[in-house]
Amino acid sequence: MPDAITARCPLCHARGIEPTVRTLLSGNVVRSFDYACSHCGLLLNEPVIRLDPLQTDVLLRSLCAQTSATVQADALLGCDIYTLRTIATRFNLAASPASTTQLHQLANPHGTLSAEAHLVPLETLTPTPVALGILCSDREAGSVLQTAALYSSWAAEVVVLVDRAGDPSKTWQESSDGFVRVSSRLLSGNFADQRNALQALCRSSWMFQLDADEDVSPELGNILTRLVTLADRQGAVSIGLARENLVDGQRADLYPDLQYRLNRRDISYEGIVHERPTRAWQKSFIALSGVIRHHLTADRVANRSKIYERLQPGGGRLFEEHALQRSFSFV
Ligand SMILES: [Zn+2]
Repeated sequence: MPDAITARCPLCHARGIEPTVRTLLSGNVVRSFDYACSHCGLLLNEPVIRLDPLQTDVLLRSLCAQTSATVQADALLGCDIYTLRTIATRFNLAASPASTTQLHQLANPHGTLSAEAHLVPLETLTPTPVALGILCSDREAGSVLQTAALYSSWAAEVVVLVDRAGDPSKTWQESSDGFVRVSSRLLSGNFADQRNALQALCRSSWMFQLDADEDVSPELGNILTRLVTLADRQGAVSIGLARENLVDGQRADLYPDLQYRLNRRDISYEGIVHERPTRAWQKSFIALSGVIRHHLTADRVANRSKIYERLQPGGGRLFEEHALQRSFSFV
């Protein structure tokens, strides 16, 4: 039987299940829960830990359909409007608060009211222009430029920043249609500074950042342009996506490895390695519409943490190396 504390969250799959004292008011009934996910805020009772993914999927779908009148007092799962927004993205839906009270709860998570939302397909939202920013080494630049055009179905522009001496404000290569622009700047061992330099080259109000060994499907790219519209409407400035680490093609246990790479242009990153955007978590949310694929080899995994450890002692997070070396497991 899976241990509750190390079990994966049935929604975001993080090993973030913790005991909780959170409660939810549904109609005039106060419901209490055993556990909450520290990543997405899902509330759950013990039996959910033992359900298979199909059964939890049914429960999550029913959360999207519920109103306070339909909530069961003994329901196994619960959520406020902040978490419902994330659940909805799993089904490519956009959740909007059903009342001004729910709107207030969305801006001030985690709330004490059961979520009540209006839901529409994300596809029906007007897309917002999103720039794709790619960081790469000098060696990787050629292959990045060959594949950049693949993103033209959804990206407003592609900006590539190469780790090479240069003035990043000067474009040294541009495609004939202006869709792809390339600049250079020395990384100098500081990933946050490099991401901020890339962000500064963006002409769109939002940028999605990838590394040269990462990619996303065109379907997810299209959804990102709608998620940004939802975020702008609701005052969110940063969206996190799961990263699927594929080591020699196999999904590693380091999952969901959340990456907040879709940010408003004015948001900056901090941290020499394992950099993160600087913003209150309440202004961010996790989207479950797809994953960033991260292509690694076993040799690269063996070296990666050691390189990070040299850049920032303690920053290598050597435990991650072990999770990268294990195959993914649901339990
Ligand atoms: Zn979760």
